Amino acid sequence: MATSADALRATAAYRRAQERTAAEVAADLTAWLAGISAQDVRTGAGPLGREYRARVARGRRKSYALAVAFYRLLRALETGTVVNLPGAATAEGPTLEGLWREFNRAAGAQAGTASRGGHLLVEDSPWVGYDERTEQRRAEGAFHREVTARLDKARGAAERRGRLDDPQFEKELAEVMTTARQEAARTGSQIAEDGGREALAEAVRCDPKALGYYRETDADPCAWCAMLASRGAVYKSAATAGMSDGVRYHPDCHCQPRPIFSRTHTLPEANQRYMRLWQEKSKDGLTLAEWRRELEKESSTT
Ligand SMILES: [Zn+2]
Repeated sequence: MATSADALRATAAYRRAQERTAAEVAADLTAWLAGISAQDVRTGAGPLGREYRARVARGRRKSYALAVAFYRLLRALETGTVVNLPGAATAEGPTLEGLWREFNRAAGAQAGTASRGGHLLVEDSPWVGYDERTEQRRAEGAFHREVTARLDKARGAAERRGRLDDPQFEKELAEVMTTARQEAARTGSQIAEDGGREALAEAVRCDPKALGYYRETDADPCAWCAMLASRGAVYKSAATAGMSDGVRYHPDCHCQPRPIFSRTHTLPEANQRYMRLWQEKSKDGLTLAEWRRELEKESSTT
């Protein structure tokens, strides 16, 4: 089934809006972390970790709400019916025009519209509600790993060498703090963007009308993402290993899971290209490094 122009528009606008949300979170974290020294972390890791979590949470909720609006619109465009919002059961469904408005608002862009039309049939929400615990655990873990533990490790190593008072060590510690700031901002931005990806994964898992998804790659995907994209559509009935691979992303990645509602869904050109290349080159199996080289060769000839 060819994808409608409306669905293509919504999908492209969705990816752009998620990328923007991730960039906003990264910028906010970068600005905040710029004012924090290694000494501040030493004396106040607890409150700083909580502040980090709160900043990541704001972005993650935005990303989640954007994914809910996108899924409701996409499902309506592709199946003619809509699902309820998380935790809200309504008897009367919105109109397609209303769904576009909801999506445009969440995306912060005028991505599309529809003529008024009637109210759509509304079905059960696939979402049980926002997962605050996963969010907290990941954000706290990230702050500890990227900032507190990184500085502790540098201090521990200097202490063993009896160099804690050495002015050179102060300089070293400042460099470690620079890396800590960068990594904490990158990781926090990914945790935020994953909010939307998880909302889509949950929708696919729990909505009987969703058949599966494929990985819609960003403009410049890494070899890992291109490999997952080369698998094409992953159906819910397929081995669960494939499903769990499909929900793994990484910092600086803006690829998205694209839910599908038809077995004859036409995949984007990029996915088809990766599929052909993978089939052609993987006859004797292919390591990720070999695949990366094949991708580089291919992109240098096109
Ligand atoms: Zn990616």
